[in-house]
Amino acid sequence: MFLPGYSTIDRRSRVAVKYDINGLNWLVRVDLCTIFMQILIKKGKIMNVTYQSTRSNGKKLTASQAILQGIALDGGLFVPDHIPLFLRSFSDLKAMSYQQVAFEVMKLYLSDFSEAELKGCIEKAYDGKFSDPAIAPLKEAGGVYYLELFHGKTIAFKDMALSILPHLMSVSAKKNDLQEEIVILTATSGDTGKAALAGFASVPGIKIIVFYPKDGVSLIQERQMVTQTGDNTHVVAIKGNFDDAQTAVKHIFGNEGMRKRLRERGYIFSSANSINIGRLIPQITYYFYAYCELLRRGKISAGEKINFAVPTGNFGNILAAYYAKEMGLPIEKLVCASNENKVLYDFFQSGIYDKNRDFVLTSSPSMDILVSSNLERLIYHIADNDPEKCKDLMQNLTKEGQYAITSLMKEKLKDFAGGFASEADTVNAIKRVYEKSGYVIDPHTAVADFVYQKHFALDNTKTVIVSTASPYKFLKSVVTALEKESAELDEFALIDRLNHLSKIKIPAAIEELKTAAIRHKTVCEIEDMPRVVEDFLG
Ligand SMILES: *Cc1c(COP(=O)(O)O)cnc(C)c1O
Repeated sequence: MFLPGYSTIDRRSRVAVKYDINGLNWLVRVDLCTIFMQILIKKGKIMNVTYQSTRSNGKKLTASQAILQGIALDGGLFVPDHIPLFLRSFSDLKAMSYQQVAFEVMKLYLSDFSEAELKGCIEKAYDGKFSDPAIAPLKEAGGVYYLELFHGKTIAFKDMALSILPHLMSVSAKKNDLQEEIVILTATSGDTGKAALAGFASVPGIKIIVFYPKDGVSLIQERQMVTQTGDNTHVVAIKGNFDDAQTAVKHIFGNEGMRKRLRERGYIFSSANSINIGRLIPQITYYFYAYCELLRRGKISAGEKINFAVPTGNFGNILAAYYAKEMGLPIEKLVCASNENKVLYDFFQSGIYDKNRDFVLTSSPSMDILVSSNLERLIYHIADNDPEKCKDLMQNLTKEGQYAITSLMKEKLKDFAGGFASEADTVNAIKRVYEKSGYVIDPHTAVADFVYQKHFALDNTKTVIVSTASPYKFLKSVVTALEKESAELDEFALIDRLNHLSKIKIPAAIEELKTAAIRHKTVCEIEDMPRVVEDFLG
């Protein structure tokens, strides 16, 4: 009943969209696309979304298979074979809760999940764990909107996807009759680790191992991870930076000998990093939700375009915004904000991705990344979904540490705008926002705020700054940005100081650290990571 010839849409032309359906080309006026798609759906002629690698045209996987596997065997990332259109009207959207938006968005991608399965996952994920019933509240301060994605258990935006990923994975395991135990391997620049640990702790049938850079995370981030409870959790500090950790984890995934050995012992690997498509899909939700909130408050009219400014590291968060835009959400610019590790800024300027540069440790450690994994998915899409082209570029990145895209590909990046903030810019942004409105932002959010103020404040388009962490998570940087004299205070005194300055209630995630016991003490060299994994698994 489904039409295998249904191919990706060239929505870039803006005038008409080309659909290739059973070998027949249809040119459809842009304003009639929705109706056209609705007719196809009614007639049962729209193909389910399936997943394939960015690096080869192998067998297509269902959503649940792609989630279980995490990363393709050829080293590529799973991508949807087409980006589905969001067909609900703005007046429908306006009436939806976060959970309802999540359902409407995610069902389009998780096509082998039943309605009941997906709703079950959403209910279990987005519940009282979040300290705000809105899940992702939108705050207005100083004429800008901040989409607060840090009300989950670990007070950073990784909770948005990692509270649901364990449930998606459990359903996927059942669906595919998986006999083996799943071992989640995760490299973290600080926030993913804790959010994944919190999400997967004590989940039956799953073990999780997290690697973090010993000197590359904030004190609070480290404390959060090493105090993690749950028999199935392992936390390891590595002597290296995030890129080292991420590369080593990808190598373990690609190590066939090791995979075989562990399979014989009843284990399979998967990933909780944003290379897992099960991370990316839930993140699309909050872009629709932010739009829905602005509509509800009468701040925008239906169809009005808005900007999103996203503090970016591994390119997962902003890629979800790109998917939202491709699904039809009215977005003007996707503002990609980097810290001093500005490899993405340079890429958007020049079309050359070059990681051959010094790695800088900044006050926004979750963005201290030189190899932005998810950019591979964007590269695949702007290469007209051609895995061969994508593979060539990625091989270049591995061999030479860089690649250059063609001018045709670069043209397709015009929805993106890049910017970056120095350490001084970041401090100033935290201070300026506080002095203007009393609102306290964390250093990651400050990077996006600075980039927005520098390049877009004069333009009339309403802008949502994606706020990725609670200021409590980066206490020292935030408090000293607000008052230099507090630099001497210890971590716990800083908590009280921030509470005094911000009037924001101390989050439970911080309160519990005061008494939690340290449970994880392993430190290892990069090259020992595979051995550490085998040791943990017995
Ligand atoms: C992970 C993270 C980012 C970067 O997100 P990407 O999806 O890696 O681009 C930004 N801010 C915070 C607080 C994070 O934890």
